[in-house]
Amino acid sequence: MKIHEYQAKELFAKFGISVPQGEVAETPEEAFSAAGRIGKKVVVKAQVHAGGRGKGGGVKMASASGEAKTEAEKIIGMNLVTHQTGPEGKLVRKVLVEEAIEIENELYLGMVIDRETSCVVVIASEEGGMEIEVVASESPEKIVKEFIDPAVGLRPFQARKIAFGLNMPKELLRGTVKILLNLYRLFTETDTSLVEINPLAITKDGRILAADAKINFDNSALVKHPDIAKLRDLNEEEPTEIEAAEHNLSYVKLSGKVGCMVNGAGLAMATMDIIQHYGAMPANFLDVGGAASAERVEKAFNILLSDSNVKAVLINIFGGIVRCDRVANGVIEAAKRQGVSVPVIVRLAGTNSDIAAEILQSSDLKFTVAENLADAARKAVEATEN
Ligand code: GDP
Ligand code: MN
Repeated sequence: MKIHEYQAKELFAKFGISVPQGEVAETPEEAFSAAGRIGKKVVVKAQVHAGGRGKGGGVKMASASGEAKTEAEKIIGMNLVTHQTGPEGKLVRKVLVEEAIEIENELYLGMVIDRETSCVVVIASEEGGMEIEVVASESPEKIVKEFIDPAVGLRPFQARKIAFGLNMPKELLRGTVKILLNLYRLFTETDTSLVEINPLAITKDGRILAADAKINFDNSALVKHPDIAKLRDLNEEEPTEIEAAEHNLSYVKLSGKVGCMVNGAGLAMATMDIIQHYGAMPANFLDVGGAASAERVEKAFNILLSDSNVKAVLINIFGGIVRCDRVANGVIEAAKRQGVSVPVIVRLAGTNSDIAAEILQSSDLKFTVAENLADAARKAVEATEN
């Protein structure tokens, strides 16, 4: 789960990480009074779950309350397009009005789980403010990495090593170590999967502050943190994914043309791989679960087909817990009720798969029954090419 910058900064403050003084606003009037309370030059920042807002025109300076209101009028309601939103952009509903800081230097600080070493890795760079991927490819020597053994945690000597790696001026070393230790504490105590401060700003008056804040949480751990779960903003999430979750279907929307309906997460991943192997991209990940009942199949069709990119559907069901003939009947029923108009390629394996093939072939709907998974993938990819 992602949260907004203003929420991440509130959490930073709770964990002792300095942030500029700020308030969230949902209307230009609220922005006006927030700027008044702050009482100095402010920045007005679009709150959406995507980075690159600065370049997209979602971060503006304002020297007085009236100007803050004018900027908020432009930003609230705008469709912000950044390299992270995709060309369709994101509607801005809130802004963060924040004391403008005079930045001397912009650094980068991130923590993320590294699956290869099973450690948290701290990534830091004196080249902040821009995308870390660009720094990594153009000046990799400017990136400092430190792996943290989860059994021991981030040790002060490691934090100092990172601070030295950032070429921190002597008087900011202690402050930097404090930020690192507090950020690591936040990372582990709230079950974060990623935190990013870009830029970590050194101000002209010698302070060190988180000027931006990004946090992603591990969804599986949210049950442990009801306060954090409350920060979820459904406006920022894919509506079909929310609907799928309400029906206990695991669905992730992707950008390809082959809609997939599969039972079992592993089989769903394999299905996506084989679609790519035959030259097309999957439109989604969808696991209908072990018991692929008619209702679930119908709901799955409904969600799949609401994506207008889908040009063919590949159903790949292994009949272990559920019998294939029951799945076949469910598929026919659902397809009739949903009025499926794209080609549907079905691969059913397991108990009663031969009966299932007969049922599908003798139905008046034009299903393509595949012989095996490779055959199914090939046919699905071909169907998107017509
Ligand atoms: P992002 O573009 O979505 O990553 O949004 P950021 O919060 O990182 O803002 C983009 C850029 O705006 C930063 O890299 C800074 O250069 C600039 N910026 C943001 N807040 C301030 C501020 O208070 N003072 C100054 N001088 N620049 C700021
Ligand atoms: Mn940023």
